[in-house]
Amino acid sequence: MKVAEFELRDRDEDYININPLQTAGKTYADTRKAIISYIDGYSVCDWCKGDLCSIEKPPVKKFLEDVSGFLGMDSTILTNGCREAKYSVLHTLTEHGDSVVVDGNKHYTTYVAAERAGLKIYEVKSSGHPEFKIEPEGYAEAFEKVKAETGRLPKVAVLTHVDGSYGNIVDSAKVSGICRDYGVPLLLNTAYSSGRMPVDGKKLGADFIACSCHKSWAAGGGNIGLLATTDEWSDNLFRQSTEYKVKTLEILGCSTRGSSTLALMASYPHVKERVKRWDTEVENARWLVDELERLGLKPLGVQPTEHDLNFVESDVLYEISQTHKKKNFYLYHELKRRGVVGVKAGLTKQFKFSTYGKSREQVEHLAWAFKDIIEKFG
Ligand SMILES: *Cc1c(COP(=O)(O)O)cnc(C)c1O
Repeated sequence: MKVAEFELRDRDEDYININPLQTAGKTYADTRKAIISYIDGYSVCDWCKGDLCSIEKPPVKKFLEDVSGFLGMDSTILTNGCREAKYSVLHTLTEHGDSVVVDGNKHYTTYVAAERAGLKIYEVKSSGHPEFKIEPEGYAEAFEKVKAETGRLPKVAVLTHVDGSYGNIVDSAKVSGICRDYGVPLLLNTAYSSGRMPVDGKKLGADFIACSCHKSWAAGGGNIGLLATTDEWSDNLFRQSTEYKVKTLEILGCSTRGSSTLALMASYPHVKERVKRWDTEVENARWLVDELERLGLKPLGVQPTEHDLNFVESDVLYEISQTHKKKNFYLYHELKRRGVVGVKAGLTKQFKFSTYGKSREQVEHLAWAFKDIIEKFG
């Protein structure tokens, strides 16, 4: 069906969608109702007294207080995605020319946030192919390097808790211990962890937590994130304009709102429950990775996998593309014919997928789809 000049979208309605960007951002039925009811512009402003995060009707303030507890932090604000949260921290703590240490598996938005803040970026390299592991000790080495080269420690360190390429989980408590020893605050990027699995900022020792809620908190197609911090930093990080006393500076007075905010609030009770089922998510992912290995695919990242996002090298599927009439687009089409979407069209040699939220039957269907394609064309 068409609206204006575009086709309506059909993914999770009719297919098993394994696009890692989308599996945990998918909305619940009641979330969709909340979105429609708040879809018009500035809808959340009906009862606003000037500050988005203090709105009591609908209960944004109460929601954010609860989220702070859920994340093991002291206070939280809404942001335009994970990237705005990260930029806010970097912009608050640094001046142009300062240094930041980031991990080698960082998302590009960490880099561009640091670049926009005018920072010199030092990287903790991963172990490379095939594990791409980030060793916590690498942070101590990087701090020493920054000190030797610039005469000062970095103002802040950023760690990708779970990276978006391999789904590796880094021992954040170890990294934060090193940061504490050096007196460098730690920003934990939980775009692929909070909302999917339990994340306790106090246990992990994070000073700041950035979240992506359209990715991992079932907030749907809008644009929304969270920035949480501890009492030590909140006054500075959430400081207000000198002229407009209720307007939080780092989010330019008001951040994401309307249906995105209400979507997040509507999904939150589901999110709180689903993180308790993380062990099942990991079991499902491990089962499928095992099956794919049996078919000749090779998982990258730390194994056995600890996350629903996985990356595989798939020479067997690439070989098929050499003779299939649809060439490298065959995999996309053959999967779709078998009820599966989410592997990027054109990829055959390597690809990422996520099993988040899938039932065991659906995961078994995924294994069958790949097996059937390999048996038919391989
Ligand atoms: C997706 C992703 C981001 C970006 O999140 P936004 O909410 O879209 O800004 C940042 N970091 C990681 C690791 C990601 O996977």
